[in-house]
Amino acid sequence: MTTLLFKNARLMDPELRLDAPGDLLVMDGRIAALGQGLNAPDGARVVECCGAVLAPGLVDVHVHFRDPGQTHKETLETGCRAAAAGGFTSVITMANTKPAIDSPEAVRDCLERSRETDCRIHPAAAVTKGLSGRELTDFQALAEAGAVAFTDDGMTVGDGALFFDAMTRAAALGLPVSVHCEAPGFEGDRSMNRGDISEKLGLEGTLALAEELMIQRDLLFAEKSGAHVHVQHVSTGRGVEMIAEAKARGVHVTAEATPHHMALDETAVLKYGPNAKMSPPLRTPEDAEAICTALMEGVLDVVATDHAPHTPQEKARGMKDAPNGIIGLETSLAVCLEELCHKRGFPLTELLDRMSAAPRRAFHLPPVNLRHGSTADLVLFDPERRWIVDAAKFQSKSRNCPFDGWCLRGAVLMTVLGGREVYELDS
Ligand SMILES: [Zn+2]
Repeated sequence: MTTLLFKNARLMDPELRLDAPGDLLVMDGRIAALGQGLNAPDGARVVECCGAVLAPGLVDVHVHFRDPGQTHKETLETGCRAAAAGGFTSVITMANTKPAIDSPEAVRDCLERSRETDCRIHPAAAVTKGLSGRELTDFQALAEAGAVAFTDDGMTVGDGALFFDAMTRAAALGLPVSVHCEAPGFEGDRSMNRGDISEKLGLEGTLALAEELMIQRDLLFAEKSGAHVHVQHVSTGRGVEMIAEAKARGVHVTAEATPHHMALDETAVLKYGPNAKMSPPLRTPEDAEAICTALMEGVLDVVATDHAPHTPQEKARGMKDAPNGIIGLETSLAVCLEELCHKRGFPLTELLDRMSAAPRRAFHLPPVNLRHGSTADLVLFDPERRWIVDAAKFQSKSRNCPFDGWCLRGAVLMTVLGGREVYELDS
């Protein structure tokens, strides 16, 4: 394994409240030294950082890698390459593969196949068998196999009594339940936000109320059961308020904001069509602003992409019939830097908290920090470097990205996983 010496970096770790210039030495997969003027051991590769930020690798707690079942869209391998290109060293994969991750064997298979990939995979397991919403999976066995959370993401479990039972079981195991909130019966045609624009386009759309109803139910369930509920991809300002209220009364809740719900609103549908179609949909400009504010204030805890690969053929079916979801791993950091740090003055260390430290804490992933002896999962990025998004060059197998062609400020230069260079920007 290479010995790596990062020279003249801006060392940044939100957990250690560290933001200082320095060098960092990686040996045998771990951080071997930090400081000023470190000398390169024999055979070391020296990386001149020119003041770029070196930080613990990013974590995305919500991705879809389509493997097994739809490997023409993404595989564990290509998904992990996309993650590495985005600066991520750990991801949590959702359970809605084909077949679903609803058995200990499926969890073990995923972990086994991800041993050599360019990013660590932590699988979430299904709440119900086959994501049918009818019969609970064996939480204990799934946890023992290595599942880090339970979720039927994409599908809300409509049977309240069954889902309350699920929460109670998850509470006993101390693992989070990650919820996609959309009230069955209220989802409309799931094409976009229901409002003036959907009306103009002749689409039925989905009410914000569908999401808010279920957020409220799941917060009440978490309160009563003592479970940790993680609310996925919050898209409405009212949803944010309900989460803030629940936190204030001591409910164990964490929640995520996606880059697209912060950078875009429902008007993006007019410009990008189905590449701006996801669930929950892009809402109003006021909602997008509320999501940004909530993430900056910590009401929403983490950034997550909901990376959801689909083929161009599927996305060509139009707003009504194209599948929901966009990819996001390779643009997440830059979009967040642009929207939050450059536009709104959000401190860089705080953004790194939302993108690495907070997700690790929320899902009990092994800690990574800039300390002697820590696992060398690192990202090196230049927060000022401008680049033009070219979806054709993505590591992901898919191209469904509304940010294609955008000029963004903030670029990943290098990603290191356990001391191994897994990504490097061509320059
Ligand atoms: Zn979802």
